[in-house]
Amino acid sequence: MVEPEITPISRNDSFCFACNPGVPCFNECCRDLTQLLTPYDVLRLKTFLEMTSGQFLATYTSQHVGPESGLPIISLKPGNQQELTCPFVTPEGCRVYECRPSSCRTYPLMRGVARSRATGEMTEQFAVLKEPHCRGFEQTHRQTVQQWMDEQGAVDCNAINDKMMQIISLKNTQMPGTLDIKSRHLFFTALYDLDSFRSQIISNDLLAGLKFDHALINAALEKDDLALLEIGMVWIRRVLFEKK
Ligand code: SF4
Ligand code: SF4
Repeated sequence: MVEPEITPISRNDSFCFACNPGVPCFNECCRDLTQLLTPYDVLRLKTFLEMTSGQFLATYTSQHVGPESGLPIISLKPGNQQELTCPFVTPEGCRVYECRPSSCRTYPLMRGVARSRATGEMTEQFAVLKEPHCRGFEQTHRQTVQQWMDEQGAVDCNAINDKMMQIISLKNTQMPGTLDIKSRHLFFTALYDLDSFRSQIISNDLLAGLKFDHALINAALEKDDLALLEIGMVWIRRVLFEKK
């Protein structure tokens, strides 16, 4: 079996690649899948599919527990168990293209972020992932990494996903080791199961005693899921990782 090639690349470097329904490998990258979802991916997909977060998570995802961190890991359930195809792939392409997950937008690039413990500054690194099945590298269209990320609408997603990375980094510093079940459940609800989180804010007065901008709370409780995710990220930091 030919192994994929991973080549580091800088933001302003260019690479030859194009993907469209005319390539001979169309949809090949949407099978044999291990597709992890960020909280923002879940938010966008459930909104696009007009489902509650609970419905979306139950229908389309599996939850695993990170063996070392104890954090919940959410991945897409394959649509076909033999080929491990994405539940959203169709012969015409991706049926959630407009709201496809961050990693689908970034592919064939990989993006990693690291946070300096000394300064808190986040730095990002990119690599080109050249998999044997992907014929997009035979196309002549050339773009820089920055252009690719802009065209794919990945920049806004990454800004929100990076806040999540900061929470995980904080967890690893403040609570190294495996998260207990109760904390894991809070983490899952506040960040992935947003509709339940909204209900619990109201019924259990979860934000009592915590300082939040009133306009943000009102927006979140009305319908604004992004505002709710912002609150969820701050809330998790405060109740789990900043309390010690
Ligand atoms: S979400 Fe869309 S682009 Fe991503 S793997 Fe599934 S079908 Fe492919
Ligand atoms: S395998 Fe590569 S070129 Fe083919 S559809 Fe997927 S991303 Fe596009």
